[in-house]
Amino acid sequence: MRIEKNKVVSFHYKLSEGGTELEYSREGDPMMFLYGHGGLISGLEDAMEGRRNGDNFCVTVPPEKAYGHRSPEAVQRIPVKHFGTKKKLKRGDVAALQTSQGPLDVTIIKVGKFMADVDANHPLAGRTLTFDIDIVDVRDATEEEISHGHAHGPGGHQHP
Ligand code: ZN
Repeated sequence: MRIEKNKVVSFHYKLSEGGTELEYSREGDPMMFLYGHGGLISGLEDAMEGRRNGDNFCVTVPPEKAYGHRSPEAVQRIPVKHFGTKKKLKRGDVAALQTSQGPLDVTIIKVGKFMADVDANHPLAGRTLTFDIDIVDVRDATEEEISHGHAHGPGGHQHP
């Protein structure tokens, strides 16, 4: 079965940047997503179109088709009390910031007694990424998956 809109695709991936491996999905369940609903970065969706189960391929994706460019405005100084945690934060931690649009994951750059410098850019923003993809399975989506806009089951969306 070919990958096209409203197919559910399961795949393993290896993510690297300039020859350095960053993530590898082989140890867990394959990733699963509903094709054509924006659930994946566009560079990867483009590269998957028309592929079948068993295919493997490699694609290098520039920031504009991956996690976007880094925005200097996303680096901000904010009061430590805006974090909904009692845990002591340190440089490099990722913490959830409570915002009016809901929780936002930010990377801690520096923490003082009352203020913290944080970076709200996606950790992979501004990076050219190489994906090694193994397509494990391609199937038709259910009507429920299409109406929700995501795949269900292991590796996909788990409803409580
Ligand atoms: Zn759902």
